[in-house]
Amino acid sequence: MSITESMLSFDRDHIWHPYTSAVDPLNVYPVAATEGVKIILEDGRELIDGMASWWCAIHGYNHPVLRKALCDQAEKMPHVMFGGLTHEPAISLSEKLVELTPEPLQHVFLADSGSVSVEVAIKMAIQYWYALGHAEKNRLMTVRNGYHGDTLGCMSVCDPVNGMHSMFTSVLPEHIFADAPPCRFEGGCSDDDFADFKEKIEKHAHELAAVILEPLVQGAGGMRFYSPEYLKRVRAACDEYGVLLICDEIATGFGRAGAMFASEIAGISPDIMCVGKAITGGMMSLAATLATKAVAEGISSKGGVFMHGPTFMGNPLACAVANASLDLLVKSNWQERVDNITHMLRSGLSRCEKLFNVADVRCLGAIGVIELKQPVNMNLIQREFVKRGVWVRPFGKLVYVMPPYIISDLELEALTSAICEVVSLHIGN
Ligand SMILES: *Cc1c(COP(=O)(O)O)cnc(C)c1O
Repeated sequence: MSITESMLSFDRDHIWHPYTSAVDPLNVYPVAATEGVKIILEDGRELIDGMASWWCAIHGYNHPVLRKALCDQAEKMPHVMFGGLTHEPAISLSEKLVELTPEPLQHVFLADSGSVSVEVAIKMAIQYWYALGHAEKNRLMTVRNGYHGDTLGCMSVCDPVNGMHSMFTSVLPEHIFADAPPCRFEGGCSDDDFADFKEKIEKHAHELAAVILEPLVQGAGGMRFYSPEYLKRVRAACDEYGVLLICDEIATGFGRAGAMFASEIAGISPDIMCVGKAITGGMMSLAATLATKAVAEGISSKGGVFMHGPTFMGNPLACAVANASLDLLVKSNWQERVDNITHMLRSGLSRCEKLFNVADVRCLGAIGVIELKQPVNMNLIQREFVKRGVWVRPFGKLVYVMPPYIISDLELEALTSAICEVVSLHIGN
């Protein structure tokens, strides 16, 4: 059945979409199908997807290998509880995650979404210090412009302005915020650049369980890229002051920033790492939190157990798809593809650099960002993109893309041309 006008009207009247009003909903486009790099609308129009459904669909949509993994698993065992039981898809996936991530990360917690994996990471850090007799080390430190998910614990470490903490001040724990990393990806990181972070970690170390941040790429909190030197300094400061380091690789993980994990680019390894988004190639919701032996054994000392266990933990369908997706990734020439996407985005988007409403153009890995001087009107700009056969979903001043790795040069060219054309229309609020 296809979508009728009355269904769309029901959607407008009754369904929340992400970050929308119930009384003044933004336009939504009915989708009939997806295939490869294409989103196919109900009216037959095909859009080249620049978003990979929010960083996820790295292999493109409806990949036959992922579809087969899902169907095969559905025949055998779609779901079973993970308490007291285990199964091959979860074990294989955890083996892969331990293998792919830096060597110190040896313990895997399977979570059902990115936000949950961040909640789990925060709880691990707090429980670790509690078990070691340091219950006072229960606060977190992070940097401004971060994004870590939408649940309350995650929100408390999101950028206080973008995350609209003012609405939730009475319920959010107050954590420590250092300035956003001031040094660009291409540059180094001076003592000055690191001064604010250094001062705050020094001052608060006695009450800090962990520092949490997105390595090198700050995603939904501003699409900012920062220097690997800064991250190296964060790691060193955490070690110096006895604070755990949580790297949220939910957006950056699995090749997006140009390395399997962004923290590798800085040559560091966190105590706790969150992965999600691309883990199933965009087919199922799944995430994971990895921890070092020291963290896991600390939590479990004196008979302690880690206090978390979602109903759908280790869902076999999601694990089976993740196994297939990670196999596909590892066996592919993803590095070459991501490098090529960087190159194509750089040359394609540099054409908008000179436009008077463009503040900055930056590319890293398979991510391209145009930062405008003024926020855009979402409804209007989206319509212009759709008109030109591409799917790009800007927010605020940011027009950005992170396409599937399988995107062709021709499609990338169409994508960047459409972006430059639409940006040159100067669609403001
Ligand atoms: C998307 C995202 C999350 C939240 O993941 P969900 O699956 O949406 O809950 C957390 N951290 C980062 C860096 C993300 O990009």
